[in-house]
Amino acid sequence: MHEHDVVNPATEELVATVRATTPEEVDAAVRRAIDAQRRWAALAPGDRARTLRRFAAAVDEHLEELALLEVREAGHPIGNARWEAGNVRDLLDYAAGGAERLLGAQIPVAGGLDVTFHEPLGVVAVIAPWNFPMPIAAWGFAPALAAGNAVLVKPAETTPLTALRLAELALEAGLPEGLLQVLPGAGPVTGNALVGHPGVAKVVFTGSTAVGRQIMATCAQDVKRVTLELGGKNPNIVFADADIERAAAAAPGSFLDNTGQDCCARSRILVQRSVYDRFLELLEPAVLSWVTGDPADPGTQMGPLVSAAHRERVRSYVPETAPAAIRGNAPAGKGYWYPATVLEGRPGDRAAVEEIFGPVAVVIPFEDEEEAVRLANATDYGLSGSLWTRDVARALRVSRAVAAGNLSVNSHSSVRYWTPFGGFKRSGLGRELGPDALSAFTETKNVFIDTEESK
Ligand code: NAD
Repeated sequence: MHEHDVVNPATEELVATVRATTPEEVDAAVRRAIDAQRRWAALAPGDRARTLRRFAAAVDEHLEELALLEVREAGHPIGNARWEAGNVRDLLDYAAGGAERLLGAQIPVAGGLDVTFHEPLGVVAVIAPWNFPMPIAAWGFAPALAAGNAVLVKPAETTPLTALRLAELALEAGLPEGLLQVLPGAGPVTGNALVGHPGVAKVVFTGSTAVGRQIMATCAQDVKRVTLELGGKNPNIVFADADIERAAAAAPGSFLDNTGQDCCARSRILVQRSVYDRFLELLEPAVLSWVTGDPADPGTQMGPLVSAAHRERVRSYVPETAPAAIRGNAPAGKGYWYPATVLEGRPGDRAAVEEIFGPVAVVIPFEDEEEAVRLANATDYGLSGSLWTRDVARALRVSRAVAAGNLSVNSHSSVRYWTPFGGFKRSGLGRELGPDALSAFTETKNVFIDTEESK
């Protein structure tokens, strides 16, 4: 019998031990889900919507409990964790309305009526990472449930507790038994059993590009539907005509939020050469004043990294001798702490090319707009990016030229549950969230009905 220890990354204390789901148990869970899905899809859309709104209300009632659980299992600052639990509530509310608005089309044809239906897929597997355990699970399960599917969530080994609690709240809110199940366990065992199961119609995977590629290959065997949300190495482009003070003040949050463990982290800061020195001068105090410490303290902006192994990975990008332009402070002693770090880089450096997934950014100068776009696109990834300029035409030109799914101008915002989210190139396949979120969980069926009078 396999078990996974859940460790508090800020204290290294054991929080819980969670039993892993065996492949036989995965099989039994898929069977229960198939049953539950048939009954769920047969309900009136209004009844499905009401049940999901009750689920949203249950999340809201337990928001503080869920947030505190995320602080303990993932080391997220309490302010962030409250936002994450609130995001689950809001997305459930938003998706619930989709159940009632899953509109088909009526297409003009001769001699009859042609209509389309959006049929649920059946059983959907959601494989979630550890960096945003609650929201990322919900980005999959909320629209999938609203569209009439059953969902099996495989949380990350290190952070299964909030997903397990959400499944309990779903039951208490009246979701049928078996409709939303959480199956903790190792990726290559539990996750793999789920991905390869013939009863699973679609896999929604968020995680590394390497694992995403394997999952896509497994899904190809059965032509299984797949949505992939993978890595990022996102540019933050600062033009000389921007409000440099604002751009520098906003930059720390863009790569330090969630201790940089964010696929949207703007970890490549590209700065026009004429303002490069001024920008770094302004960036330094902004980075050094970023509050790092006890995640339970509401004033904390940055907590620890998720695990000792991950800290070693992050450290490997910053050799002790590396000429760091800026190096912040981090608590000493217990916990997987790592200081905010800015490196002066060159375009081909490993730290400027690979996703570090820690509080480390690389700053690189550029000459002109053409070079900025070229550097921004010099990556296999294409998830998000920001650009800072006062020139509206340039803002539009560069937004269109950067090959990434989510761009922000004079801002770093990229994720709202009501706008679409996803990556270009090796950052993923498909989109989540936004007005079309449910369409990723349905098949379109076209039906023609002959209306000719029989002779
Ligand atoms: P990971 O790929 O190691 O693991 C993600 C999940 O996949 C975990 O639940 C893991 O147990 C499971 N898994 C691993 N091997 C598997 C297999 N063979 N079959 C089935 N499941 C398997 O990634 P991680 O380290 O947990 O997360 C970090 C990565 O996630 C980063 O690369 C980050 O950029 C990416 N990410 C992307 C987005 C996005 O929306 N694009 C969001 C968050 C994180």
